[in-house]
Parts: sequence; structure tokens; C-alpha cells
Amino acid sequence: MGPVRLGPVLLLQVLLVAAAGTGEAVYIPYNTSAGVVAGKLNVHVVPHTHDDVGWLKTVDQYYVGSNNSIQGACVQNVLDSLIPALLKDENRKFIYVEQAFFQRWWRNQNDMIKDTVKGLISSGRLELINGGMCMHDEAAVHYIDMIDQTTLGHRFIKEEFGQIPRIGWQIDPFGHSAVQAYLLGAEVGFDAFYFFRIDYQDRDTRKGTKELEVVWRGSKTFGSSADIFAGIFPKNYEPPPGGFYFEVDADSPVVQDDPFLFDYNVEERVNDFVAAALAQANITRTNHIMFTMGTDFKYQYAESWFRNMDKLIHYVNKDGRVNALYSTPSIYTDAKYAANEQWPLKTNDFFPYADDPNAYWTGYFTSRPALKRYVRMMSGYYLAARQLEFFKGRHSSGLTTDSLGDALALAQHHDAVTGTEKQHVANDYAKRLSIGYTRAQELVSISLACLTESGSKSRCSSPTTKFSQCLLLNVTYCPPSEMDFPKGKSLVVLVYNSLGWKREDVLRIPVFSDSIAVHDSEGREIESQLLPMATSSLNIRDKHVKAYLGTLPGAKPKFWLAFPVSVPPLGFNTYFVSNTKKSASVSSKSTLYSPQGSKSSNLQVGQGHLKLQYNAAGALSLYSDSKTQVEANFEQKYKYYIGQDGNGSDPQASGAYIFRPNGTVPIKTEGQAPLTVLRGPILDEVHQQINSWIYQINRVYKGKDYVETEFIVGPIPIDDGNGKELATEIVTNMATNKTFYTDSSGRDFIKRIRDYRSEWKIEVHQPVAGNYYPVNLGIYVEDGSKELSVLVDRSVGGSSIKDGQIELMLHRRLLHDDGRGVAEALNETVCLDDQCEGLVIEGKYYLKIDPKGEGARWRRTFGQEIYSPLLLAFSEQDGGNWANSHISKFSAMDPTYSLPDNVALLTLQELEDGSVLLRFAHLYEAGEHKDLSALASVDLKRVFPNNKIGKVIETSLSANQERAAMEKKRLKWKVEGPPADEKVVRGGPVDPSKLVVELGPMEIRTFIISFGHSISGKQLL
Ligand SMILES: [Zn+2]
Repeated sequence: MGPVRLGPVLLLQVLLVAAAGTGEAVYIPYNTSAGVVAGKLNVHVVPHTHDDVGWLKTVDQYYVGSNNSIQGACVQNVLDSLIPALLKDENRKFIYVEQAFFQRWWRNQNDMIKDTVKGLISSGRLELINGGMCMHDEAAVHYIDMIDQTTLGHRFIKEEFGQIPRIGWQIDPFGHSAVQAYLLGAEVGFDAFYFFRIDYQDRDTRKGTKELEVVWRGSKTFGSSADIFAGIFPKNYEPPPGGFYFEVDADSPVVQDDPFLFDYNVEERVNDFVAAALAQANITRTNHIMFTMGTDFKYQYAESWFRNMDKLIHYVNKDGRVNALYSTPSIYTDAKYAANEQWPLKTNDFFPYADDPNAYWTGYFTSRPALKRYVRMMSGYYLAARQLEFFKGRHSSGLTTDSLGDALALAQHHDAVTGTEKQHVANDYAKRLSIGYTRAQELVSISLACLTESGSKSRCSSPTTKFSQCLLLNVTYCPPSEMDFPKGKSLVVLVYNSLGWKREDVLRIPVFSDSIAVHDSEGREIESQLLPMATSSLNIRDKHVKAYLGTLPGAKPKFWLAFPVSVPPLGFNTYFVSNTKKSASVSSKSTLYSPQGSKSSNLQVGQGHLKLQYNAAGALSLYSDSKTQVEANFEQKYKYYIGQDGNGSDPQASGAYIFRPNGTVPIKTEGQAPLTVLRGPILDEVHQQINSWIYQINRVYKGKDYVETEFIVGPIPIDDGNGKELATEIVTNMATNKTFYTDSSGRDFIKRIRDYRSEWKIEVHQPVAGNYYPVNLGIYVEDGSKELSVLVDRSVGGSSIKDGQIELMLHRRLLHDDGRGVAEALNETVCLDDQCEGLVIEGKYYLKIDPKGEGARWRRTFGQEIYSPLLLAFSEQDGGNWANSHISKFSAMDPTYSLPDNVALLTLQELEDGSVLLRFAHLYEAGEHKDLSALASVDLKRVFPNNKIGKVIETSLSANQERAAMEKKRLKWKVEGPPADEKVVRGGPVDPSKLVVELGPMEIRTFIISFGHSISGKQLL
């Protein structure tokens, strides 16, 4: 029963008369106080802004509002104008998401504004949701980075405002991962998770069946214990159709309710609003719908939006057909929960994302492979550097790992590591990483020096030993090792292991001399091998060193020196390299030309039980492991996809986001490529120049049971006018029945079936692009007897396009923009003296074939070693007296202790207040491995043998609340269908006297620990 409605003209006349009679202006008090009304359709009006922490402009340009010719956007304006707008009416509400911006703004405010904002936040009028530094991507990110960047934001919000974000708000990332739902959702204590980008066919289906809102069970292992309510927006994260954009320069009709003025339109606007509400209600369960009132960088003059929303709420509620209210996703979620409905169940993930038949967003899984590798390297380094920061004591010098942490957090943004930003913005992310690394590197060097000089005995801040590190080993550049060591002097190589288990590995460093000996920390000479440097490795050296450091490197080293190292858990070992008459074994070198049709015999490499065989044409043909009895025919090849240029009937081009191939071109070596074989006691290498821009080295180590493939690819030629997307493929005769497995953000493996989605019917218009998935850890296929696994050194796109085959996209160079806003072609170059050439990518992947059921151990345990490579630090020894004045072997843990094979130490970090953030992860899913999927335990007393452990508090994943409190608050959503039959294993509470942490499969447990203030550490030698 609405009020009697007067037509606008009549109303105008009535009011004109009234106003003229009194001589007073008309003031309309808008009633915006509506809450949820039972029995009505409730329209939750959710004001928001979506602020990318870098995309077309850099994060700082977006914040201050510079570079506006690219995009008129200033986040400072948003936040500045928001506060008075919120104060004007106590019912107005707003959510803010990106902490990188919010913190920039917060630092600039005076105490009065800060107090006001604290009041707005504590009363729920301004709600900080999602709460990470950025809205991270979900495909090209590693779960450890997702956790770190979320923790940074969440802890700030807790410390500054005492608030705990309740809602995941991943509205823009390009597809959604299972890890986001269960780990970064349920395990951080979120009650719900909202987003919009899912496959267009999936969305259409869900609209028809009212299944846009679901309970998402992202983890097979955790089952319903990590369920989360997930809401998919029906169209996008903008206002509903019908013209409700109220930015100052928007062209939607404002609500004109002043009868003295022309164009009075209250009734039309109310009708528009009600129509939009009814349309959305038609595809939504319960009588609650959400209007997302905002979009990218909006609310630069917030009053403009709120003024119109006030009027809409006022007049719509007077009209009475629906109930409109200022709301937040938290209020909306509570209303959905209160409806006590059963929701459809969603499992697995939402990859790949397509918004059109020819527009699969699967290109960005690989776009900017160098940035992706840089992010991954820095991620592993940050993990190690925080450990060393803790060993040294956070406050003992001005150096911290904080700026590396901040840079990494920004780099997880959905237009950062994804490669979907403009070039100048990609440069900005890299610059920030470089600055963060430089500071962290200094801290690491000092910390290592302190540990070598005094071990754990005392805090030290200015050690005399100088260590340097080599970030550019991938372009064969390491100044400390590239010198002749005069008599009596030697190169000290300190090898730090950030993992909680002992590690055996082979190091490779560039050296000059062929007369070299390597000694271990006990003075024994150890086996070593010199491998002549390949021209291809040297070619990328000069140019990239000059381009990145601005200086030319010195004389070229002649060899890679390889030697085995053994490093204790959470500790280091030291090796000494010196010139000597007695030389390391120089690898035997043979170059085999295998012209087609020649009768040259097969070639076999491998000094241990793993052998690779090359056929007479110089192609890989057989993998055999005498230990596991695995033998498999396989080929390894390269091909490129021609990037669609967008000139066809569908103008969709292949670009930074979208992979749209226009044909496949195999790259044939045609038996012409010489095969260079290096053999020695530690490893064999097979070098092949595949074509003029692809070089490859396959390595088989004597003591290891996998193949390491190093590739140097690029510049991708574009002189034929075609963009190209380079893939490598491994082809076997395994019968894999369209099925393969890829990881979710580096964690759970998810089953993929070609041209098929497990929960909805798909019509695939792009048979290659539509079957690509993100790969962060690895990809594998299996048949009745074997598993073929490939692990990666960064995030890439991958698939199994044919049975028995695996492919990875290694590099992309494209000449057209793909029309999703970035407005640049993905054509990365490296410039030197104004000469620019396409970017060259160096990288590695790792391959292993196991008996069926055995592959998980390698994928998980070695996968963690790829993520956390050994950290090398170099110094110089004069006169062989290192051992007299230095500790050369060290473990922070009890020397007889090691973490179990299925547990990784994800975080060991001293916090501002001196307490320690500690995180352990079980690496295996339930049922993944017959032994290692079992409950594991970690003995904290032996991890920290020299510390008195005080309080141990278990927290949520993002360390902003106690775990028990989080569990108590958790909403239990009801799911349609019969209850799942599940046996979820999680570790029990930590007994404060025993201090043993148990971890069930896939469990990640986070603790804040307080210590007595001595540094942990145990000198082994
Ligand atoms: Zn965005």
C-alpha cells in the first residue's frame, strides 16, 4: 500500500503554490533508515569502489591522481570525499577493499580524521572487507603469496581498528580458485565470498536454475569443514542495468525530485529501480538481492552517489513494492544465512574463465613470464629472509624485510603477476621488488655474517664478514665467483636451506679456471665437475647485465662449476672453492651431428639409475629408471600458436588476457641441430639449439631421479607480422582418457577433463584455449601403470591437448590488444642503447615418470624445494682460516631433528612486537600418498631448541584472530542433497607442556608464539 501518487506535473504545481505561499525553500528529509523487512524483496544497496593497485597507471599514480591522461582516477579523492559523505547521514554505508591504498591514505590523515574514521569503522558504516593489501589474482599466484599479502592487510586492520574482515570480495579476478574458496576464504574466517567472473555459459545456466549463490566446498580433504557461501554476481560488479551510475561525470539520469526545477523524474527512477530489482530477484533465491553500487575508481566525489542513493531508498520505500536499504556484504550475508535455506553445492573451481565463445582468459596464465618468475623467486627469498631476520633479531639494525613484503603483496594484484597491466606498470612492480630485494639482501648478508661469527650466542649488528649474493645467475652472472682466486685465497660459498628438512642438491656457479677444487666445511675435498659454458648462456649475459645493471660484466666465465651440497634443515653449510693444480673433472664433451638418414646409433645419458635415450635423429625417445622399473617412450618438442590478430569475422585478438590461437606451427629440428653432450661424474647435459631462438639443455643428475630442462627462448620473431605463443610439449603413448591434473594456486591438484566441466555442460569453441589451466606447482597425467609429472619454476598455462601429452606455454609475444582495457599489445622487449629486441626467457621445468601412485611424493616434496631454492651467499677466505673464526655449519633446529617429509615451514617471522608468526603446512591431500597423507606432527621444542617457548596461540590463517574464536563464529551453511560421508582429519589442540603441533592432510596451522628473548640456533660445527 503505497502512498497516493501524484503525477509529476500535478505535484510540481501543488508544491510551487505551497513554496510560493511561504517563501521557504523545499527541504526533503530523506528516510534512509530502512533495514531488512520480512516478507518483502529486500534490495541491498552496497556502495563500493574497485581500486586496482596498478593496471593502466601505477599504484602511486592511482593514489595521487597523476597521469590522468591515461585514466582519470585518484583514490585519494575517493577516500577524502567518502568521509564527509558518510557523516552526512548515519545510514549511509561503504565498503573499502584494497589496503595498499587505504594505508597510503591513512598515513596522511590527522588525528581528528583518524578518530572520525575509527568511529565510522567501529559502527559498521565503513567496513573494511577482503582486507588484503590488494585483491589478489587466483590463477597466477602461489598460495604462500596469497597468505602473506592477506596477512599483511588483516593484521593492520586488527591492530589499527580492532576489526576482523568477514567477507571475501574478489570481484574482478579472472576466474576463481578452489584455494581461494577454502583456504583464503573459510580458513581466514570469512563467512562468504563474492565475485563475478565465471564462464559465460556457466553463468547462463546458473541464472536459469537460480544457482548463482552456492555453498562452495573447495577442498576434497577438508570437505564441509571448509565450506563457504559463494555469491556470483549476475552480470558484473557494477550497478544493475537501468542507469544507476552516479559518478559526477556519468550519464545515468540523476534522481531529480526538486519540484522547482525541470525534469522531475522520481516516478521513472523508482520504476527503473523496481524493474531492476524484480529482474534480479527472478534469478536469485530468497528475498534478498544485492545491488553493487560502484565500479572501478568511482566515488571520487562520493556525495554524488550517496545523494542519489538516498533519494532512491526514500522514494522506492515510499512506493513500497520493494524494500531498499543501505547495506554491506556482511549484512547481506547475514540475511542470506537467516533465510535458513539449503544451497546448491559447488566443488572444484571456476577455471578457465571465458566471457565470449572465442575469449578464453587463459593467455594471462603465461603473460609476462619474466615478471612471473621474478615474483616467484622473490617469494621464496622472502620466506628465507624472514627466517634470517628472526635469527638476527628484528630490531638489531635498521634493515627489515618489510619493503620486500610490501612489494610482493602488490605484485599479487590481479593486474600485476597476471601480466595484464601496461608495460610501465609492470616496470613499476619490478622496480618495487628490486628495491625490496636490495634491502632484504643486505639484511640476509648481515644475518648470515652474524650467524657465522657468533652463532646463536649473542645478538650482533655489525659483523666484519662480508657476504654478497648473485641474483642474476639465470643470466650467468655472479661477480664473486667469476675471478681467479690467488694462492691462499678461496671463494667461500655459504648455502642456506630455508626448508625444515635436510637437503642434498647440486650447485652450479660460473667460474674462470679449469683448475679448481671444492672443499666442504670439514676440509675434505669433494667431487666437482666443470661444464663448458654454452654460447647461448653467455649470449644472454652481456646484454641483460647491461640492460638491468647499467654496467657491462667483466670477462666471460668459461665453466659452470657443479658440486653436490648437503645442508641441514633451517640452517647452512659452507663450501670452499679454490684454484689448484688438482682439477675438478672437466666434463667430456662431444658434439653429435645427426643428419637425417644417417646410421648413427642411439645415445644414452645419465650416470645414475635414470637414463634418457635419444634416437638417431637426435630426438628424445626413451625414459628409463632402473630403480623404479619405469620405462616409457617419450618425445619432447616445441611448437607455437599463431596469435589471432582480430581481423576475422570475430575481432577478438589474442592478447595479454586472452589466448586465441590461429593455427599451430610445429618447430622442427629436422635432425639438423647438433646435439652437444657433456658428461661427468655428477651430471650429464644434452644441449640442443632447436632453432635460432630456442636453446635447450636437458640435465640428468647422477643422484637424482628426474630430468631438469632449462630453456632459453626468444626473442620470438615477429617479422612475419604474426604474434606467437610458444609451447613445449611432452608426448607419450600413455592412454590418459582426456584426463589430466593441475594444481590450484600451488596446492590441491584438481582433475581436468578435456572439453568437459564437471558441474555444467560446456560447448567448447576453442579446443586449445578452452582446455588451458593455470599451473603453479605442476601438471600430471596417469594411465593404468604410470604417472608423468611436470613441475614448473613459475606460474604458466598448461594443458593436455591430446591423450598422453602435456604442454606448457612458455612465452608469448603478441602484436594486438585483446580489448579488455589494457590497450597495449603484449610485446615485451629489452632495450640497450635505444636498440630494442624481444624479451628472452630463461627458465626450467622438471619432469619425472613414476609408477602409478608414487608420483605425489616427488610433486610435493621436490615441489617445495623448487619454491624454496637454496640461498647462496659468497665471501672470500684468506689463508684457510675460515674455520678458526667462523661457524661453518649451522642449524637453528635441534641437530638431530628434521620436520617430517610431509610438512613445510611456511612462515617464521618476527613481528613488530617481538612475538613470532609461525606457520606449518601439511603438503599432502587426503589419500594422495599411502604413507605421507597421514597425520604429521612437529615438535616445537626441537624446532626451537634454544628458546624458552612462552605462549602459543593458534590463529586463523591470516593471524588476526584466535582460531577457536573463529571456529565458534563460523556460519554453518546448509547444502542441498544428502550429507557427505566424510572423515576429516585435523590436528588437535597444542598441549602447552608438550608443544607438539599435529597437522592433518592439507592442514595449514598458524601460531603466534612468544619467546624468551634469546636467538634460536645451534652450532653444529
Ligand atoms: Zn580490477
